[in-house]
Amino acid sequence: MTLHPPTILVLLLLGYAMLGLQLAMVRRRLLEEQALRRWSWGNTLLLLGHLMLLARIVVPLPVSVIAGNGLILLGECAYVAALQQFIDDRPLPRGVRWVCAFCVAAMLPMALFDTPTRVFIASVLTPLPALWGAWLVWRARHRVERSLWPVGAGLAMIALALLARGVHAALHPAYYVDLTLPNTVQSLMLLTSFIALLGSGFGFVLACTERATRSLERLASHDHLTGALNRQPAELLLANALQRARRERTTVAYVLLDLDRFKSVNDRHGHVFGDEVLRRFAHTVAARLRSSDVFSRCGGEEFALVLPDSDAAGALGVLDELRRACRAMGLVTDDGSPFAVTFSAGISLSPCGRVGADALYREADRALYEAKHGGRDRAVLAQPVLQT
Ligand code: GH3
Ligand code: MG
Ligand code: MG
Repeated sequence: MTLHPPTILVLLLLGYAMLGLQLAMVRRRLLEEQALRRWSWGNTLLLLGHLMLLARIVVPLPVSVIAGNGLILLGECAYVAALQQFIDDRPLPRGVRWVCAFCVAAMLPMALFDTPTRVFIASVLTPLPALWGAWLVWRARHRVERSLWPVGAGLAMIALALLARGVHAALHPAYYVDLTLPNTVQSLMLLTSFIALLGSGFGFVLACTERATRSLERLASHDHLTGALNRQPAELLLANALQRARRERTTVAYVLLDLDRFKSVNDRHGHVFGDEVLRRFAHTVAARLRSSDVFSRCGGEEFALVLPDSDAAGALGVLDELRRACRAMGLVTDDGSPFAVTFSAGISLSPCGRVGADALYREADRALYEAKHGGRDRAVLAQPVLQT
């Protein structure tokens, strides 16, 4: 294979320019602006770096070598900083920043060496930031967006291709005396960089889009104050649970929860404290449910639970535990006195999913009404009425 390295460099430049355009267009529309800004910087620096390498026909060789390699390394560091920001929401750790600074500084004396040695040094140092980036993605692979995986893979590919060229340059320096002549390993390395860096760039934009979509979905489906589901998605999940119960012949328990005398909490301690109580209550409940349970805010200080595969005893047991957890929430009012919130609950059951969502809601609401009238701080099971 005889690929002309300068031609590949020109392709690389066009690719970066295309990606730069894409980044400029989407940046303001996405939430991850800080990370995208760093990636854009990385892209611009890589574009300039490769331009400088190509410019050796018009600018003095030492300038081209130092500036070109230095800018490429800086660009890579910016990519990795973007990844760190995106994954961990923080800048690069100090140690990694020092390594990046060392690698860039190590480019300064590059002009003193002959070309094969320069290629070797660049091939050994340039992979370091890329390897850190690949490690970041690997470490967070279970929690980050899937579209970030190719970004990590792309950076690992670049690092490997560079290292392979370093080994080749060390073993066969003669191939690296004139870099404009065809050289299969050098060409393959440039092609790999071309594909992997562009792929990583588009992957990164995709990951940002994926995250933006996810947060919008979450905003639409979850209550802002408590983090509990909103009513509409909860109704869909109730319908699913009923369908599954019909198939698997299990019982679904539906519970309406209402905080007791909450108006007086607001009146006595203010709405800010009231909001805090709602938040803490919701977190306390959510923390004690199974992943298959559904917890939603119906509105105000009323919440609903869908407990699949739960009979009366199961639902009453869950409510007992929630009641204990609420007592132990450790809320303190502004004047320093301890405060405990209680709730009343109405439970309705759908054996084998036979009772529909509307009837479940009606029965639970009636049971809740009875719980309130029976003195509050209790759960009532709709027909037959049981008290805890
Ligand atoms: P009961 O035991 O009969 O349920 O009495 P209650 O005071 O809890 O019931 P009521 O329906 O009279 O009052 C509910 C109160 O919940 C009224 C409203 O100010 C308060 N509330 C509703 N939503 C919010 C909210 O988002 N934040 C705060 N702080 N208060 C809220
Ligand atoms: Mg209430
Ligand atoms: Mg109420």
